[in-house]
Amino acid sequence: MRYISTRRKEGEAAFSASEAILKGLAPDGGLFIPESMPSIPGSFTLAKGAWYAMYQAMLPYFEGDELADDLEEICRNAFSFPVPFHEDGGKDTLELYFGPTAAFKDFGARFLAFSMEKLLSKRGEDLTILVATSGDTGGAVASAFHGREHLSVKVLFPKGRVAERQRMQLTGWDGNVSSYEVEGSFDDCQRMVKEAFMDPELHGLSSANSINLGRLLPQMAYYVYASSLYEAKHGEKAVFVIPSGNVGNATGAYWAKAMGAPISRIVLACNANRPIVDYLEVGEYEPRASVQTLANAMDVGAPSNIERLFALFPDFESFKSNVSAYSVSDDEIRRTIKEVYDESGYVICPHTACGERVRRDHVAEAHSVVVSTAHPAKFNDIVEPLIGRTVAIPQNLYEIMHRTPRAKEIAPDYRSLF
Ligand SMILES: *Cc1c(COP(=O)(O)O)cnc(C)c1O
Repeated sequence: MRYISTRRKEGEAAFSASEAILKGLAPDGGLFIPESMPSIPGSFTLAKGAWYAMYQAMLPYFEGDELADDLEEICRNAFSFPVPFHEDGGKDTLELYFGPTAAFKDFGARFLAFSMEKLLSKRGEDLTILVATSGDTGGAVASAFHGREHLSVKVLFPKGRVAERQRMQLTGWDGNVSSYEVEGSFDDCQRMVKEAFMDPELHGLSSANSINLGRLLPQMAYYVYASSLYEAKHGEKAVFVIPSGNVGNATGAYWAKAMGAPISRIVLACNANRPIVDYLEVGEYEPRASVQTLANAMDVGAPSNIERLFALFPDFESFKSNVSAYSVSDDEIRRTIKEVYDESGYVICPHTACGERVRRDHVAEAHSVVVSTAHPAKFNDIVEPLIGRTVAIPQNLYEIMHRTPRAKEIAPDYRSLF
């Protein structure tokens, strides 16, 4: 299996999975995609549990790759937590938040960390990962890379601009993970990372962006697993409704469907950031500046994975017949969290609420799955006032929040990182 750039021109090179994972971005600035979509292996089974099913879904993507023989071990280590459904008569919810930082990004970040560790130890090389974060991503990356050999991580976040619980997840690390509280904005943090990458004196720097193939493939794998489990249980294929920002999670679902996973269709649930919704209405794609919403991990005006969707559905007609997307307002997010709790006592986060709103308003089918992207306890300031009670902190989050915070305050100059 070889990988090419979404911007590839005739005759440009193709890369192995391992090369794509270590590079992150293709040399021409595009995103890596498989040269052709594989099929789910004939040996695929649900009988050995979630991580093993995910491993099988990943196998064809590593055919002929130097990591092929290590893939089983990497998947066992990376996907070491449950992937359960909250069942509600076929209108179920897939809970992707049992990883260490209680959001779906744990799957991708952990797979990437274990893969990179393996590749670097084979090469006898070391890498330093730089992450600028305004919240969620940095925590998942820090947790995933903590303790991994040959790797160190520097997390940069803007001082005073992340929620207290998020700050704990960014700073509760020691050893190979260092946190930097930057006296500046998130844009300053991003600029510092870019400048460090451009400094010719600095070597061995890398990123762990959500566009990295190593973060995307696990998101394909849990859709192969979950859709197969759903079909086995209900005898029907489900519609998957996916809360989306950079559309990496949804791209995983489209890849799973292209491999033959039993998904009847895929619906994107967006917040007030609606470039894809507008594209479907107007026929012209225009990235925007992002606006702030209650579902802040989806506050994206220029979704980075859109190139991968355009690669799958190159013209407007095929895009339109495969992609549905709806926008949900902050008022609707609040109303949905309250409505779902009042009906059944089930508590959902603001991102998941976008998905549930879209299911209730736009999905007529009896068989559907809303993807729950984060545990509601991560967004207690929003959720608790709406439901009138506290949300218990799950064990995974509790552990992270009771580590000792360590962060270095620095000026917004990348040289203070080294
Ligand atoms: C990152 C994130 C999203 C958006 O996922 P994309 O892959 O960027 O579309 C949704 N919800 C939560 C909780 C997230 O952390």
